[in-house]
Amino acid sequence: MSVMPRPSILSVEPYVGGESKVPGVNRIIKLSSNEGAFGPPPGAVAAIAQASREAHRYPDGGATALREAIGARFGLDPARIVCGNGSDELLSMLIVAYGGEGTELIMSAHGFMMYDLTGRWAGCRVIKVPERNLTADVDGMLAAVGPRTRLMFLANPNNPTGSILLQSEVERLRRELRDDVLLVLDSAYAEYVTRPDYDPGVKLVDATPNTVMCRTFSKIFGMGGMRLGWCYAPPAIVDVLGRVRGPFNVNAAAMAAGIAALAEPGWVEMSVAHNTEQRGRLEAALTAAGLKVWPSEGNFSLVDFGSAERAKAADAHLRARGLIVRAMSGYGLPQTLRVTIGTAEENALVIDALVDFSRVA
Ligand SMILES: *Cc1c(COP(=O)(O)O)cnc(C)c1O
Repeated sequence: MSVMPRPSILSVEPYVGGESKVPGVNRIIKLSSNEGAFGPPPGAVAAIAQASREAHRYPDGGATALREAIGARFGLDPARIVCGNGSDELLSMLIVAYGGEGTELIMSAHGFMMYDLTGRWAGCRVIKVPERNLTADVDGMLAAVGPRTRLMFLANPNNPTGSILLQSEVERLRRELRDDVLLVLDSAYAEYVTRPDYDPGVKLVDATPNTVMCRTFSKIFGMGGMRLGWCYAPPAIVDVLGRVRGPFNVNAAAMAAGIAALAEPGWVEMSVAHNTEQRGRLEAALTAAGLKVWPSEGNFSLVDFGSAERAKAADAHLRARGLIVRAMSGYGLPQTLRVTIGTAEENALVIDALVDFSRVA
């Protein structure tokens, strides 16, 4: 007899992240994980170095200073903020606390993959609702709700499609969703959105007892390697997360870096202006070259090559030039590649390579 995990664990394939190497190519440009164009803010780098001197001390398990800094920056009550080892950890904690065996979790067909993977290992039945135009379908999501449904996840903007639901639609989703279904608004790309009719989730968390907003330092703040995320939640849900959270789930360097990143002058404004401009350039150039680029509100664009074979050929063409983007067959979109918006130079190299590709293939 051998030890066996719960059966639901074996139903899950391990997560495969964006690649960072191409054999035989020296200079690699990694545009496969939406990591922000500029690396970490300088103040965060200094804070990490400083924190390393105190590495023997346990961190503040309550993340008090960080929650206060987040609260001050976004105008939120620190008592309703919970920090995590990346927002992935918060998504897991919510699924373990509110889902599990015998429950259902609803997401959109091309929603963020971690909801599916985590939901399945936790034992939930995961229901993927078809999208319209690669955008979450509110009516379809509502129609999928059954007696066992306990969780609904919406990445807004969504990764990898880049699509967004405007505030009126998210409000309708919450209004028509049963009260005992927790709605998790994953706003990992919120800072990049420039539309006025968008809210990252704060309004709904304030107005309802069953909505949570998740945020991350991994994208616009360029700190994916530090693993830092946070959520804003009603008091009863904060209490539940406090019970399932590891006592020191966020490390000291990450907390110090997060506080410094929030204080970095002009960082978000600079990053958003850059992203909007460069994403526009990519869209315009590739569209002019006859490729389809899905509209995106994030720091990435989904480029549609019409067929899986052509997307594969485009991926090989980019790789030969050291450009690593993300193949999307795992998301059921094998005809597309997701390209992170990098620096102006990196973006120009992607544009050149794909315009060149569109001429030959
Ligand atoms: C990148 C990403 C996350 C994960 O963020 P971490 O804080 O690094 O765990 C969560 N949700 C979406 C939609 C993402 O794209």
